[in-house]
Amino acid sequence: EIVILRLGHRPQRDKRITTHVGLTARAFGAKGMLLASEDQKLADNIADVSTRWGGNFYVENNVSWKAEINKWKDAGGKVCHLSMYGINLPDAVPEIKECEKLMVVVGAEKVPFEIYEMADWNVAVGNQPHSEVAAVAVTLDRIAETDHLRDEFEGGELTIVPEKCGKKVIDNR
Ligand code: SAM
Repeated sequence: EIVILRLGHRPQRDKRITTHVGLTARAFGAKGMLLASEDQKLADNIADVSTRWGGNFYVENNVSWKAEINKWKDAGGKVCHLSMYGINLPDAVPEIKECEKLMVVVGAEKVPFEIYEMADWNVAVGNQPHSEVAAVAVTLDRIAETDHLRDEFEGGELTIVPEKCGKKVIDNR
């Protein structure tokens, strides 16, 4: 079970990128995203994608990051904070793969130092600055036990049939 904790989301500035963090997490096998800011509209948009394209991905809006991390750890979960300053992902993958309940934390601007201390791992997806979207995608892909690109999302209104050229979509309604 993997959930994403998104910190520091600023509704004006980060709307697109936080939406992409959620959609990428969903596409790469996470169960849900906890949003440590108030943005119900963004949560609703991602829920709409799940209705349209299937699966049970959830977004919890306006959580307290500290309470969620503590709750997660109390329930036996581990926390992996993605930061370019951390241990490089290839060196951490074997250990992280052993974890069955994982919270992946990504920031926006500056992440409170307490996160570094509370995390079980501070992990860099390469020690160069890039993007939380890329960091989530590569991490979930590297630690996956199965190939999430082959996941089927049940119950959606629409299903894509891969085509060499063109767009084929089945309407299940
Ligand atoms: N300047 C910020 C800092 O010093 O924490 C980071 C800004 S970065 C655009 C936003 C988020 O992307 C970070 O909090 C981190 O989660 C993620 N990120 C960016 N580059 C990363 C990398 N190389 N490895 C892991 N995570 C990364």
